[in-house]
Amino acid sequence: MQPLFRTPAAVPDGHPGDAILLVDNSRSFAAMLSASIGERLGLPVTVVASLAEARQALAGSDRHFLVFTGLVLADADADAILGFFVSTGLPLVVVSGAYDDAIRQKLQAQPIVDCVLKDTPGSIDYLVWLAQRLERNRRIGALVVDDSPAARALASSRLRLYGFQVAEAANGADALLAIAADPGIRLVITDYEMPGMHGIELIRHLRRTHARDRLAIIGVSGSGTAPLVAQFLKHGANDFLHKPWSGEEFFCRVSQNVDNLDLIGTLQDLATRDFLTGLPNRRHFFDLGAKMFEGARARGLSVAMIDIDHFKHINDSHGHDAGDLAIKAVANAVAQHARGQDLPARFGGEEFVLLAPGLRGDAAAAYFESLRAGIEAMSVPLGDGRSVRLTVSIGVCPDVGGGLSAMLAEADRQLYVAKASGRNRVKQAAETSAREPSMA
Ligand code: GH3
Ligand code: MG
Ligand code: MG
Ligand code: MG
Repeated sequence: MQPLFRTPAAVPDGHPGDAILLVDNSRSFAAMLSASIGERLGLPVTVVASLAEARQALAGSDRHFLVFTGLVLADADADAILGFFVSTGLPLVVVSGAYDDAIRQKLQAQPIVDCVLKDTPGSIDYLVWLAQRLERNRRIGALVVDDSPAARALASSRLRLYGFQVAEAANGADALLAIAADPGIRLVITDYEMPGMHGIELIRHLRRTHARDRLAIIGVSGSGTAPLVAQFLKHGANDFLHKPWSGEEFFCRVSQNVDNLDLIGTLQDLATRDFLTGLPNRRHFFDLGAKMFEGARARGLSVAMIDIDHFKHINDSHGHDAGDLAIKAVANAVAQHARGQDLPARFGGEEFVLLAPGLRGDAAAAYFESLRAGIEAMSVPLGDGRSVRLTVSIGVCPDVGGGLSAMLAEADRQLYVAKASGRNRVKQAAETSAREPSMA
């Protein structure tokens, strides 16, 4: 078997170097760009105006993951600037006031991510997008599959430059092993002509387990005839590149395909997550809950409806934004209380549900009572020195023999009983002996 090479994680645990070093002699441009990056991405930017300051900013620290630099600085010429930043190994974007043939020639020979003309409309937007793309790439695995060591090395070094965590395989069989072993791989660049299994066959195998919206595959071939390109696309490639590709085209294709994965992920999130709290929404709760339900039944399960007490009063006396903070705080408390196997969700306004497999009777009562007590003990900071305290009422229902909806209806009745009998308490429906699961 061919060895697989994988670069170590680019983002060390607990020390995400998420700062950008911006080297530019124009104060107004640097201020505008760093403000845009701060506002839109929340990433810190270190702004310096000379190479000496840049050296100092990078010395002995791994805070920065990316460099944006101009080529005109008071203390160094373009060659010295490029030479230094290339030697740091950090992804490098040249932000230039001019782009002529001399500069283009100089840059073509250098391992840089991109060159951006700073005085064109949209250059700030483009640079913000670049920063976001390069930051996100660090959490994405990429696999290069090619039997030619030189071609493999070229594509891999480019992908490393863009921040990806890169693995390599010299044939289809090794590629399948690499993908099976690493769910972090979201991008595959595959050659066509390879001994054993050609690129299209590899894609056919991969598509049995990995959909196009989860794994982007780009086919590459020197014989990029129209029929071959069509075959690649028909069998599940997201895109195709002719060899030899230019660095500029390679970067655009790769970024576009990974952007699409991000976008689809975001859209899926929008459909299944509640916007305010990030918890699954009501519809998603029913989707996932229905799937969990039958399997969980054998060991017993409970569902709880959780409703904030006198929430209108919080809105009325502290304002709607404070109300939102209170909803988020309760959502966090519910999510943190939930065990790995539980399913929490925001059901509506100030109402949450928690489906807890494996819990019934006294164990369920104790579990939800400790959630109630935890929320009663919280103080929710409102951001301006003020804080607010709140309580919840909880209605709990065990499996009563119907479906999930029947359990929820009964939990809601118990919630009503909890409200009516004074709030800030847990009420639990009795278990019917008819469906008493065995206690074994
Ligand atoms: P009870 O103890 O009986 O549950 O009283 P309550 O005031 O908590 O209950 P009620 O259901 O009458 O009021 C809930 C309020 O929650 C009404 C609505 O204006 C508010 N609300 C719903 N969704 C949101 C939201 O997303 N943010 C904020 N700030 N308020 C919300
Ligand atoms: Mg080949
Ligand atoms: Mg309510
Ligand atoms: Mg309420």
